[in-house]
Amino acid sequence: MRYLSTRGQIEPVSFCDAVMMGLARDKGLLLPESIPDVRGELARWATLSYTELAYEVVRLFATDIPAAELRDIIERSYSTFTHEEVVPLVPVGELYVQELFHGPTLAFKDCALQVLGNLFEHILKARGGRLNILGATSGDTGSAAIYGVRGKAGIHIFILHPDGKVSPVQERQMTAVLDANVHNVAIAGTFDDGQRIVKELFGDLEFKDAYDLGAVNSVNWARVLVQVVYYFHGALRACRESGRESIRVCVPTGNFGNIFAGWLAREMGAPISQLILATNENDILARYFRTGEYSMGDVHPTLSPSMDIQVASNFERFLYYAVGQDPAEVRRLMAAFAESGRITVPLAAGEPAIIAGVGNTAETLATIGETYRTSQYVLDPHSAVGVAVANRLRAAGEPIVCLATAHPAKFADAVKQATGRDDLTHHPAIDGLMDAETRCAKLPATTDAIRQHIVQTLG
Ligand SMILES: *Cc1c(COP(=O)(O)O)cnc(C)c1O
Repeated sequence: MRYLSTRGQIEPVSFCDAVMMGLARDKGLLLPESIPDVRGELARWATLSYTELAYEVVRLFATDIPAAELRDIIERSYSTFTHEEVVPLVPVGELYVQELFHGPTLAFKDCALQVLGNLFEHILKARGGRLNILGATSGDTGSAAIYGVRGKAGIHIFILHPDGKVSPVQERQMTAVLDANVHNVAIAGTFDDGQRIVKELFGDLEFKDAYDLGAVNSVNWARVLVQVVYYFHGALRACRESGRESIRVCVPTGNFGNIFAGWLAREMGAPISQLILATNENDILARYFRTGEYSMGDVHPTLSPSMDIQVASNFERFLYYAVGQDPAEVRRLMAAFAESGRITVPLAAGEPAIIAGVGNTAETLATIGETYRTSQYVLDPHSAVGVAVANRLRAAGEPIVCLATAHPAKFADAVKQATGRDDLTHHPAIDGLMDAETRCAKLPATTDAIRQHIVQTLG
């Protein structure tokens, strides 16, 4: 399988090249040259364990990794999950909640980043070379990236976070990782300062090449690909348990990375009748799927901070298919969006693959409270946005698979606000953190200070 850019200005590349490239060189996003149809496999896939299923899905796309090594990468990646089913499907009232948060940082990003770290290591071993990952985080992505590559040969990771501006749990999830290849930096500034510094260092091509800088952002094709797996797993299982032929899946969404994987799974033939996209007040995507107009708004802080996003970096992948796989049209639209912050892309006729709804802060809190009272099940605020929207759009008696993207213990304050209780959200991985040893450099929020720190650390 080879990979093309949504902007059409690179030669097709292999899977391993696509993983190392992240963003395509023409600034587009990488996509497979065709989407396999797996309808003939579903009866067999329905009987597989999570890692067996992951192998079957990923091998269709990762054709340049030998079978035995791919199996090994997948098995090692999910051995860090604490639930034997990896992503269990839990009945909650008439819904199914698919828990994607049993990885090391208790959020769904582990599903992809555990695999990505092992893929990087495999590719670097095969080709030689090193990778120095640089990123800025406002909270969750940093820790999932760190856990993805901790202790891996040939890789160092530098993660900048704004000093004192991430939650104590988020900070400790990063700084309590003491592996020699993990370098946390608390900068005296904001998240935007961190992003600006990272952008400037990636823009300094001489420095970037000399130090083999790379990113682990949400546009990496491998992240999208491995997320396809849990859509098959959840839909097949929910159909079997409910006796239905297909089912709707509701996805709390920020960057469109998670739900785009669901769209791909549906295109491949997963028994998903429709995807329900759920946003918080930052609703650029919900507005698009209602009106066909994609237009930027201001970012509002909410209880579900990992969805406080107004420009969804993976949306360009969907756009490519929406305009009939025409890279020139994608280039035109992305240029128009960069200039005016607004484009119109007509919605497809007929029954839509994706519909959308908004769960605001009041509904998020009400949903956490009500779900706890009626089902004794505790939702985190991101997952609650999805459940709020699913409950609103649900037909009487309809089961919907709702993706749960974080463990509630990561967002204990919101749970307390919703339920009035602070004894509902413990998790051993978090309870132990406050006493853990930590390591973190504190530096000024300047590009020079970070450049110097990288040079000194790598020697
Ligand atoms: C990142 C994240 C999301 C949003 O995922 P996207 O792929 O950006 O749509 C939702 N919930 C949690 C807990 C997250 O960390």
